[in-house]
Amino acid sequence: MGGKKWATRFALAAAFAYAAAKVAGRWRKADLRGEVAVIVGGSRGLGLMIARELAAAGCRLVIGARDVDQLRVAQRDLEARGAEVLIWPCDVGNRRDIDLLVAEAGERFGRIDILVNVAGLIQVGPAESMTIDNFRDAFAVNFWGPLHAMDAVIAQMQERGHGRIVNITSIGGELPVPHLLPYVTAKADYVLNCIPMHLLAGIEHNFPKEFAAGLTSIPRGKLFKIGFQMKERFWEKEGIYGGISWTLQDIQQLWYPAHGINRQKGVMLGAYTFDPAAGEKFARLAPADRFKLAIAQGEKIHPGYGSYVETGVSVAWHQMNHMLGCAAQWDEELWKKWFKTLQTPVGNHYLMGDQVSYHPGWQEGAMASAHFAIADIDARERAAGSVAA
Ligand SMILES: Cc1cc2nc3c(=O)[nH]c(=O)nc-3n(C[C@H](O)[C@H](O)[C@H](O)COP(=O)(O)OP(=O)(O)OC[C@H]3O[C@@H](n4cnc5c(N)ncnc54)[C@H](O)[C@@H]3O)c2cc1C
Repeated sequence: MGGKKWATRFALAAAFAYAAAKVAGRWRKADLRGEVAVIVGGSRGLGLMIARELAAAGCRLVIGARDVDQLRVAQRDLEARGAEVLIWPCDVGNRRDIDLLVAEAGERFGRIDILVNVAGLIQVGPAESMTIDNFRDAFAVNFWGPLHAMDAVIAQMQERGHGRIVNITSIGGELPVPHLLPYVTAKADYVLNCIPMHLLAGIEHNFPKEFAAGLTSIPRGKLFKIGFQMKERFWEKEGIYGGISWTLQDIQQLWYPAHGINRQKGVMLGAYTFDPAAGEKFARLAPADRFKLAIAQGEKIHPGYGSYVETGVSVAWHQMNHMLGCAAQWDEELWKKWFKTLQTPVGNHYLMGDQVSYHPGWQEGAMASAHFAIADIDARERAAGSVAA
């Protein structure tokens, strides 16, 4: 047991030294003189090694860590190497602490050019001895810590069009290490990505050409819906209790609620169109005009329909933020040409969701895609010998 612990620690120390050498190699190539670097978890170990490299490269330093005494020791060490150093006690799992650190760095140096997230938490022990709190702590430091810090600095870096972020992750995210379950869980680095692929194509990436071409090759639907709140459940007076009326008009369908039977009011679907031309037609109208058109068409099915409308809401999915179109519109040809390319992971990145399934536009498709990815990851991990058979 003791032997295993030391083997684990040795392996991690070797991995840290390798990471430090890699990072340092990169610094040496860039001119960093005068840049302001924040090192979260920079008071000792790998963080301090990186801070020393940055000091040697001429950076001004902000070091965040929990222990003030250790921070002071690190400050003296770095100042002796000629660096200007601000130390700031903080717990990376605590967003407020990170915001204060970033504010203080801004106050002292005016900006942040480099963020290095090094802080990490390792609890060593067999899985059965690990508590939920161990996992919570591992995620707070290893996952939320870097995310908090990145979120706190990215806006100012984007504004200046300049910035560097280094996240020290771990081989433990690729290959689970025995006796480090909370740590490797929080460092896991598979990406299961359900961002709509036509939007993903617009985010800076390094996907292979063929995969990137696939992202923009599957058209999206233009579904459109209107919901009307009706003063009275007039349909029930006509003997309708739920169900759909189909029409060849632009609104295509009227849906009646199958719940709230015999109440005073009810919300019904006043339009639900799959036809892209009808979707476009509605989308181009102002909300009030969308209602006018839908009411005029509804009147042809239920005379007096408009007099019941109290209020309404309309959604054109191809105009909705973060979607810009719903349901990937596959056909036989597209499935043949692109499905395998888009479903096959690119390294550790999996494109997910109903958009990469044989049931696009249905939750069943999203689940099928998740099952595919999980089974594939499981097979990979088993093949790598990291999961017991
Ligand atoms: C009008 C309509 C009716 C539907 N009716 C049914 C039905 O009756 N039954 C049924 O089973 N299914 C139905 N569906 C389909 C169902 O909603 C989808 O199958 C399901 O939501 C797909 O889940 P997903 O996780 O694949 O994708 P989504 O739920 O679409 O998730 C994609 C996520 O990516 C996020 N995102 C976008 N851009 C970015 C970015 N740059 N960074 C980070 N995140 C980003 C989005 O905000 C979103 O949360 C309907 C869909 C629509 C639009």
